[in-house]
Amino acid sequence: MITTRLSAPNRGPRPERPHATGAGVVPHTPLRPMWCCRADGQPWPCGEARLLLRVEYDGNLAGLSIYLAGLMYEAMRDLYHLNPHDGPEPAALFTRFIAWSRRAG
Ligand SMILES: [Zn+2]
Repeated sequence: MITTRLSAPNRGPRPERPHATGAGVVPHTPLRPMWCCRADGQPWPCGEARLLLRVEYDGNLAGLSIYLAGLMYEAMRDLYHLNPHDGPEPAALFTRFIAWSRRAG
């Protein structure tokens, strides 16, 4: 018998980067399920998180892209569950999570 049922994919990466920059410092990581920065409340990744991620993944653009794509997928899961009718557009999430990482500077 042919089945079209797929098993549910496993969870994506845990949003534990960028790491805190010192002891007692709140890291610029996302608060789920809203995906705002736990340090400054901006939509994640905030400007500071982008800067820190660029540093942490220096020379590893592929690794950064894979991490961000995994988190975009996790964010879609959370945000569309929270806002089934007016969640963010996929294109907007792509721009927010991934497109910035490809730009120079
Ligand atoms: Zn932040």
